[in-house]
Amino acid sequence: MSFFQNIKTENIYLNVLNLNQGFKIYMKREDLIHPIFSGNKFRKLKYNLKELKKNKNSLLISFGGAFSNHLLAVAYLGKIEGIKTLAIVRGEELRDFKLNTTLQKCSDFGMEFEFVSREKYRERNTNKYNCELQNKFKNAYIVPEGGTNMLGVKGCEEILSKYDKEFFDVVCVPVGSGGTFSGLINSSLEKQKILGFSALNNSNISEVINKFVKKDNWKLFDESFFGGYAKFNNELINFINNFYKKHNIKLDSIYNAKMIFRILDLINNNNWDFGKNILVINTGGTQSVEGINKLLKKKGCGTINY
Ligand SMILES: *Cc1c(COP(=O)(O)O)cnc(C)c1O
Repeated sequence: MSFFQNIKTENIYLNVLNLNQGFKIYMKREDLIHPIFSGNKFRKLKYNLKELKKNKNSLLISFGGAFSNHLLAVAYLGKIEGIKTLAIVRGEELRDFKLNTTLQKCSDFGMEFEFVSREKYRERNTNKYNCELQNKFKNAYIVPEGGTNMLGVKGCEEILSKYDKEFFDVVCVPVGSGGTFSGLINSSLEKQKILGFSALNNSNISEVINKFVKKDNWKLFDESFFGGYAKFNNELINFINNFYKKHNIKLDSIYNAKMIFRILDLINNNNWDFGKNILVINTGGTQSVEGINKLLKKKGCGTINY
């Protein structure tokens, strides 16, 4: 299938961020893979789609919340591949998804929805819930939240090129469900350090990562700067807007902006001892900005302008 043919993405040198003391930050533009199918979601669905086709499944089910880049990627994949898609969505209040731009776009691609309570959603990774779904939808292929399963991780093992492994001391990536980070760890060289910047505070994501990886050349940072998942303040919004002005690169506000903000903070406060040749993976996800700007406006906050 042409869509999933080998994709190579470019590294660019972030000149303006060239800090003192010889630090060099490069960015891998995984965000440019596709405007909807951005970065890591593409990687995580590649082998899952192969498996679905092998099994001749006719329905693709997955899980997500209000701004889910993953659900949008699933919906789009379903559309171009002619596969039905069903989303289990966290939060019954989202039933009126006309208020939510991401889910509206999913719906436009033909996705159907089941809205569940937060309690029910918490069971998303249990065998019980998955069997329940499998019984209800007999010919379904179920992909976990964020696309993170063995095959999703396998896809993310293709992100780093041979050059990336040899040249960079440290590779940084934002973390949600942990699949992208796990794939990078698996494909890294032992001498490299892989740093994950979680979009969540106090998650048990390390346990998930430990299921997928055997190496220990990694470290995970919690989202302890901005108050947790999809929480923002004006400092972050200004950072995104300034970054765009300087580099002409759009950073999403849930994952990539927070990661880069944190990296610069660590470096500027001399808390960085991971090496000076740094590669940051831009995982994309800017589709969420439209919906987030609506929320920011409602609260009377500044908005993201790009
Ligand atoms: C989903 C997502 C992540 C997190 O990836 P995981 O593999 O779930 O950890 C990071 N960045 C963006 C833009 C995403 O959409």
